Amino acid sequence: LRARLLDRQAQRESAARTYARSIPVAPVAAAGAEVTGADGRTYLDCLSGAGTLALGHNHPDVIVGLQKVIGSAAPLHALDMITPQKDAFTEELLKRLPGTLNNNAKLHFCSPAGTDAVEAALKLARNATGRQGIFAFTGAYHGMTLGASSVSGPGRMRRGAAEFGPAEAQPVTRLPYPYGYRCPFGVGAEQAGELSARLMESFVTDPSSGVGRPAAVILEVVQGEGGVVPGPDAWLREVRRITAEHGILLIIDEVQTGIGRTGDFWACERAGITPDILVTSKAVGGGLPLALIAYRPDLDTWQPGDHTGTFRGNTLAMVAGEITLRTVAEQQLAERAAKLGERLRAGLRELATAHPQIGEVRGRGLMIGAELVDPTAAPDALGSLPGDGAFARAVQQACLERGLICELGGRGDAVLRLLPPLVLTDEQADSVLGRIAESLAAVTA
Ligand code: PMP
Repeated sequence: LRARLLDRQAQRESAARTYARSIPVAPVAAAGAEVTGADGRTYLDCLSGAGTLALGHNHPDVIVGLQKVIGSAAPLHALDMITPQKDAFTEELLKRLPGTLNNNAKLHFCSPAGTDAVEAALKLARNATGRQGIFAFTGAYHGMTLGASSVSGPGRMRRGAAEFGPAEAQPVTRLPYPYGYRCPFGVGAEQAGELSARLMESFVTDPSSGVGRPAAVILEVVQGEGGVVPGPDAWLREVRRITAEHGILLIIDEVQTGIGRTGDFWACERAGITPDILVTSKAVGGGLPLALIAYRPDLDTWQPGDHTGTFRGNTLAMVAGEITLRTVAEQQLAERAAKLGERLRAGLRELATAHPQIGEVRGRGLMIGAELVDPTAAPDALGSLPGDGAFARAVQQACLERGLICELGGRGDAVLRLLPPLVLTDEQADSVLGRIAESLAAVTA
């Protein structure tokens, strides 16, 4: 069955398929952090719908909530009309929003994908400020539509938006993300953050830079697809200060980092900053498609019809989302993610002592990355070694053979990424480490 499914899909689906190629599992059943394939094998799922399944697969409360609605005659598709389910979701979300947005934000439901919420954020920023420019960061990932990909760094699986059309969709100025291990300035992450912020300020204030004030700055607090790179708190606060001082809107893309993933409900909370526009998707819909932006009420300059979409009101996603937001808060799953993440990172660092191919272990909460490098190459000024994407791919495949699903990311796909559900048990976490240890041993044998 597995071979038939995989072969048939390989013929019928586009060549741009990615997960189906790198993870040749045909999942037929799943619960919590486990997935069973059509081959009868059970896998620990450290990808969890690309970070979507905060509560894991088929969480009993989510299933019960969905079953209550299905067959109750409630409309499952309600465009963006108001339903009791949407109202309950909205209540729950508003009270979980960070800082000054808490119970004081306008929401705009989008077509249900992170990329469309990014589009909405960029359009709203331009609309509200009357300016066009956007500052974005190297290594960023914000989505696949033209606007979102034009603020993403070129890299893995992605070509620049310009390659699909005559010009980038908007004037974008790229700044260096403070990535300590591969620091663009040859210094550590903290200092890189300081230099990046100074560069931003000079672009804004120095007319000779030829850049000027943008409508917005868009960033990820922890870059996900870019290789699990956490931005230092001091840098985030500096970016917040500069943007506030110059009337530039700060868009924080919490599509991957939100809903407890990084050890805080929202990743921006640790640095104590609040964006003007917060972008969320993935886990906010509890595993079903949902995406939205939450923003300062005074920015609400939309005209009716400015950013619409047919699939903006999926009742089931509102139900799964509301249950997920509530459960993550009530069961303190962010705190759990922080603790479990520490345990996993400590285990990976221990493995690094025996395996010099692990160049750096990093992340926050259950957003974890191990950058795999070539230990025989010459180190750069910071002592960092070149990434080894082929080795990372071999480790990923060895993990799969040992029943562990994980993903790659970052420059050259050299970062092994773990995005397990927040309900991963301690035993499962230890098993994840055991399987990675065996895989490293097998690949280096
Ligand atoms: N922003 C971030 C930070 C993401 O990680 C992703 C998806 N990996 C997106 C935006 C795009 O979301 P989607 O794939 O739902 O369009």
